[in-house]
Amino acid sequence: MSGIPAALASIRARIAEACARSGRDPGDVRVLAVTKTHPSAAVREAIAAGVDAIGENRVQEAALKRPEVTESIPWHLVGPLQRNKARRALELFDVIQSVDRLALADRLEALASPTDLTVPVFVEVNVGDEPQKSGVSVDQAPALVEAILTSCPHLALRGLMTIPPYDPDPQRSRPHYIRLRELAGHLVRDFALPPLELSMGMSEDFEVAVEEGAAWVRLGRVLLGERRNQA
Ligand SMILES: *Cc1c(COP(=O)(O)O)cnc(C)c1O
Repeated sequence: MSGIPAALASIRARIAEACARSGRDPGDVRVLAVTKTHPSAAVREAIAAGVDAIGENRVQEAALKRPEVTESIPWHLVGPLQRNKARRALELFDVIQSVDRLALADRLEALASPTDLTVPVFVEVNVGDEPQKSGVSVDQAPALVEAILTSCPHLALRGLMTIPPYDPDPQRSRPHYIRLRELAGHLVRDFALPPLELSMGMSEDFEVAVEEGAAWVRLGRVLLGERRNQA
């Protein structure tokens, strides 16, 4: 075994070890293959290897690749979404992981309601309070969640997503992942929600994220190799 299947086998083994350390069931951790910059052939290889879903961060890139991928698998948008691309995003993606403001949620609601579809969404939280990063602040997250619950009946809140501040030491991500888990706990309690899934952990720190409760790890380089140069 080599290439993507071998990489995925090694990732699943590392997830299982992180689960053993933290008393979790590996069946509760899903692998989202973040395929940005990689060709659709690599997307199909990842699907054949058995990843749980495909993630892209740009609407235009997904528009080029998704028609070439005939396999049935959920596609998640993990990058920032402009309101004027929301319609296209809903055509291309099954899950939107980057809802970070009410204007965007309202736009998705307006697009979804005439079709009577329900769009699964994650609220993206800027756990590190980094000014340049997308995501709602931890402080503002409850108000955004409440607004979605009350005014967006065609959005189904599935969980919270975060990208922590970059740090080469994976242990430095841990407090951010704990913060996201605790926020989810408060939201579930305050709004009487079913459990929220946590989308957290990337190539460098996914084991830490699993130890802290990730339901989705979003993996690019560790699964597919270095990103290709973008044209
Ligand atoms: C690119 C990307 C990833 C994957 O990053 P790697 O470090 O290559 O695993 C995960 N999440 C988001 C939002 C991304 O844009």
